[in-house]
Amino acid sequence: MCKECGCGGENHKENKKVVEALTKVLDANDRQAQENREHFEEYGVYAINLMSSPGAGKTSLIEATIEALGDSVKIGVIEGDLETDLDAQRVRSKGAPAVQINTGSACHLDAFMVHNGIHQLPLKDLDLVFIENVGNLVCPASYDVGAHLNVVLLSATEGADKPEKYPVMFRHADLLVITKIDLIPYVDFPIESAIRSARKIKPGIDVIALSCKTKEGLEDWLDYLRFKVRINKRALK
Ligand code: MG
Repeated sequence: MCKECGCGGENHKENKKVVEALTKVLDANDRQAQENREHFEEYGVYAINLMSSPGAGKTSLIEATIEALGDSVKIGVIEGDLETDLDAQRVRSKGAPAVQINTGSACHLDAFMVHNGIHQLPLKDLDLVFIENVGNLVCPASYDVGAHLNVVLLSATEGADKPEKYPVMFRHADLLVITKIDLIPYVDFPIESAIRSARKIKPGIDVIALSCKTKEGLEDWLDYLRFKVRINKRALK
């Protein structure tokens, strides 16, 4: 699917040249990611990279967060999708600035794409930036985009064993958000098994379970964000 990260080729692992080229790409990406973090810090902005499979509710969580926090935390969004600016439009309709990045055939955002997005956001007016990555549980985990926190979403409509099936993504995450918990009575999603599966891969990972529809658990997420934004500002004083 994506030429750049090598996920589309069956023989890539055996191809030394491809591995070397990929290592160079990742080294350059890491340098740009560090520069992105410095940009955010210059303006006292806390940045969160949201990752999940398609349809887990990343955009819905961003919308619910903007609505709930209002002017108390000023939010900007960098939206990553293969095509369309539909998600950026959804975010803008909630009153927050949003930049859409279309990755074309690339199945992840990289630090260079995010850097372009950063320069189109009014960072001086913001406290928090969400980077909504392309819906994919594999490739985005390999690319540092320059965020301060990596969050992975897992919805109740997915398998509770996903953390063990996609270990790189869950190991890479600082926080697991279980979404759509209002659907748990109607689907086969043993939430305790999902948390156990995630903690097998990433011992001690924080977990927040919520529903953007009923708002159950949403306050835990908002408290978490308020805390992160507050200590980020203090650290920079
Ligand atoms: Mg989305």
